[in-house]
Amino acid sequence: MILILADWRFRVDVEATRIRTTQNASDHCECAYCKNYYDTVEMAHPKLRPFLAEFGVQIAGPSELMPFEPTLMLACYRVQGQILEWGETELFVGGVPIVPEAEDDDTFLLWVGELEVPWVQEERPEDVVSPANLPEFMDRMREMWSLRHGQEILFS
Ligand SMILES: [Zn+2]
Repeated sequence: MILILADWRFRVDVEATRIRTTQNASDHCECAYCKNYYDTVEMAHPKLRPFLAEFGVQIAGPSELMPFEPTLMLACYRVQGQILEWGETELFVGGVPIVPEAEDDDTFLLWVGELEVPWVQEERPEDVVSPANLPEFMDRMREMWSLRHGQEILFS
């Protein structure tokens, strides 16, 4: 189906996207950072789930989930389809930026965030053991941040 958002036009295979992101949702990282995102994102950003659902995307099924900080996340959702027309309008859903990116002929990405979520896990965020704590991941996060903001991130 064709989805139009402002001056953007997408062709989306909703069913294939639903299947793919449902698989992701049943097989996602269980570290406390990711768990915290799944526990809180719908409550903190109620407009996000219905928005993603238009693409067939399950909110609990990102391809990648990246914590800049434990409560400041960037989520990447993979959609089966194509960006037919690149808009100039910056897309936001409930204040959260949505940045589409072509991946290959059959898929594109929706970068969601950054978005803030409250921390609701029992363990303290600084005690979390996660792939997201590995130095190479942190390097990647700094790189993503400077790509998105043109500046270095200062991790607290
Ligand atoms: Zn995780």
